[in-house]
Amino acid sequence: MKKFELLREDKLKRRLIRENVRRVHMTAAAFAIILPIIMILHAVYELPIEIRAIYYSVLFCFEIISIAFFTIASYSKKKKKRQTISILTYRSFWLIVIMMMSVISYLQMYEYENMATYCLMVAVLSIVPMFSGFEYLCFMVLQSAVILFFYTMLDMHPSHLIGAAIFNIGMAVAYKYFYELQLRTIMMKGKLFSLNKSAEEDPLTKALNRRGLDKKLNTIIPYAIRNKTAVALLIVDIDNFKKYNDTFGHPAGDKCLKAVAEAIMKTARRESDLTARIGGEEFLIFVHGEGEEGPVRLAEMIRKNVEALHLQHYTREKGHYVTVSIGVASMVPKNLNCVNELYHEADTSLYTAKKSGRNVVAWKDKVYKKAAGAE
Ligand code: GH3
Ligand code: MG
Ligand code: MG
Repeated sequence: MKKFELLREDKLKRRLIRENVRRVHMTAAAFAIILPIIMILHAVYELPIEIRAIYYSVLFCFEIISIAFFTIASYSKKKKKRQTISILTYRSFWLIVIMMMSVISYLQMYEYENMATYCLMVAVLSIVPMFSGFEYLCFMVLQSAVILFFYTMLDMHPSHLIGAAIFNIGMAVAYKYFYELQLRTIMMKGKLFSLNKSAEEDPLTKALNRRGLDKKLNTIIPYAIRNKTAVALLIVDIDNFKKYNDTFGHPAGDKCLKAVAEAIMKTARRESDLTARIGGEEFLIFVHGEGEEGPVRLAEMIRKNVEALHLQHYTREKGHYVTVSIGVASMVPKNLNCVNELYHEADTSLYTAKKSGRNVVAWKDKVYKKAAGAE
């Protein structure tokens, strides 16, 4: 139970990091677009000479940093082992945002006694990033230090300080609310995703179940009809599986089914290949493929790879392993009913395969023991 909870926590943490990187990505893109507009607006409404240079340098640096973080966040999203880089990305991004916006706030308060940028910074940091309680506390301390610094340096009126404090407290409350809301959304999304996935999966082998297969076929077959492309069906059936179960027991039979399914899915591994277990010890594999050659070659590879698992045969004879027989059929579908025709043809081929001694691939009346080009 404890392990299960730990796993969930770990998953949630990973999702939070992914969400944070997504937010860095979007915010950096927004800054990269908005900052040049602000610069242009300031060029129109001229700033006093003494702060213009420093103001433009800060905005320019901020622009470069936003573009850099946009790039890093895009890279972090793609990279496989990205947890560490992602944590660094989002923390350092928000730290830099605080620094940059503080400087801009300072200049704005110095020149106009206006706290708009400061309030914007607090609002953005309270609503956009998903910080843990401790991280948010650190940022609050930093923000308070910033406003205290302004207060002493600029000799501000105490009402400014009181206003900022009230605003900060309000934002901290809003932060708590948004954080919990977002956390719940992330968890719900994750739950929905895994519920959907498991409803379409065979729990033993992780191949598609009937529902999952129907759903995929509902997109694949109309696509094949429209584009006049061929669809092939391979029916893979484990040989003498009843005897296997009788000899080694049902749990061993389940293990064998799992291993065979893995071997099939490792072989038919193209994105467009579908492997389903509709029940029993029979697997359906739908692949795109014209005519006889491609699908038969794939079937032969599956047959060989299952045999190569070296799962002990029920006869316990040396060099005698669990095998499969495969029936293959292919056609360019004309309507949705073609799936039934395809199944019927592949099933007839499977019958031929079984009749001719098992551990073979059959296409119509042809039986392939070791098909040419199977390597
Ligand atoms: P053939 O070579 O002609 O295919 O013979 P077979 O014994 O494999 O075929 P048959 O259809 O007679 O038997 C299928 C067996 O598959 C019967 C059943 O015990 C077993 N089976 C079906 N589903 C499961 C399952 O989920 N787990 C296990 N362990 N066995 C299963
Ligand atoms: Mg069988
Ligand atoms: Mg069967």
